[in-house]
Amino acid sequence: MPGIPEFAEKVALTDAEWRAKLTPEQYRVLREKGTERAYTGALTQNHATGEYMCAGCGAVLFGSDAKFDSGCGWPSFTIPKDSKAVAEHDDFAFGMHRVEVTCARCGGHLGHVFPDGPRPTGLRYCINSASLSFERK
Ligand code: FE
Repeated sequence: MPGIPEFAEKVALTDAEWRAKLTPEQYRVLREKGTERAYTGALTQNHATGEYMCAGCGAVLFGSDAKFDSGCGWPSFTIPKDSKAVAEHDDFAFGMHRVEVTCARCGGHLGHVFPDGPRPTGLRYCINSASLSFERK
């Protein structure tokens, strides 16, 4: 549908459908707000040129041009491909205030955004590899 952004159409699956579609690790991170262990994700050290999509619904979330080496152990980006592709929510889990980042299209948990990134945004979108798929472009 030309002119209609991919994220305009929401994706809502039942819990059983998500379990069937995702690997156990993807399910734990995307649907249960889990976090993969630092430095274990498949895309942390990926430096190829391309697009990062939501592993749950395929929405384009980040471009390789926004990826940087943060040293934090998870794929890190300065900015989403489109601000409407992700949603941000206050997260007070573990006795701290963080800002959770989810996929705007399917609601899947992606990671958190922190105000310690490089220019120009000063932001670090710290995203689980398990929440992403990568396509070389
Ligand atoms: Fe999604």
